[in-house]
Amino acid sequence: MKTLMIFLDGVGIAENSTGLIPKNSVLGNIIMNSLPIDACLGVEGLPQSGTGQTSLFCGVNSQKMISRHQYAYPDEKLKQIIKKHNLFSALKSQKKKVCFANAYTQNYIECDTRRRSVTTWMTLYSKTRPLIEKDLLENKAVYHDIANETYGGNIKIPIITPEKAGENLLNIASKNDFTLFEYFLTDRMGHGRESLKYLEVLNRFLNKIIEEISDDIVLLISSDHGNIEIEGRSHSRNPVPLFLKNYNLIKPVNNISQIKNLIIEITSL
Ligand SMILES: [Zn+2]
Repeated sequence: MKTLMIFLDGVGIAENSTGLIPKNSVLGNIIMNSLPIDACLGVEGLPQSGTGQTSLFCGVNSQKMISRHQYAYPDEKLKQIIKKHNLFSALKSQKKKVCFANAYTQNYIECDTRRRSVTTWMTLYSKTRPLIEKDLLENKAVYHDIANETYGGNIKIPIITPEKAGENLLNIASKNDFTLFEYFLTDRMGHGRESLKYLEVLNRFLNKIIEEISDDIVLLISSDHGNIEIEGRSHSRNPVPLFLKNYNLIKPVNNISQIKNLIIEITSL
């Protein structure tokens, strides 16, 4: 089955609070209807994006492998793990059509080699074509903030509604076996570094997708570590959500390192 994954950075499930997430919001309901899964993987300290995303997209316990939680950008050790075990390469070796739906700026992809996230390394190592402004203008990519509001590149890109961005992502998902969209403003909002107005954009975008996704596409939403679900401004050790629509789990999933295999399983159905 075709799969659309929406990866939300820094979204956990707290026992007695929803933190910055409004209770009756779409994101709040997604969390309520999710399976809580572990993101700490037996390593002390607060989980971080570098290791969390490596474990999630590579199906390994990268925290344990490097004995710590590593901040956003992968170092050489994590890059080697991503090169060898990443989900995109695994799917492509099974002749699956893969798309990373986020649009990059041409400048970032060519010049900014230091600030490359796990998903960027996964895209490059698997020789998946990174989407850029041209794709965004043709509605064949989605900007990381959903509505193109924060785009600061050299080309004039019109602002679109969250619903239009959702429609664009659903179109992309219908043409690929596996489509990934990464949203990291949730983590930035949790750290107090971004306006909470983006939650409304995210909720409208998610609502459009949940309402209109067709039955032959599985929707999977998950995260790398907690943050926005608590009142503080740091990450949390809370479990993260595994939300699925149009699919019932066959095998139990307990932690983020099992998501890669789950996706491979779903796409081979
Ligand atoms: Zn963070």
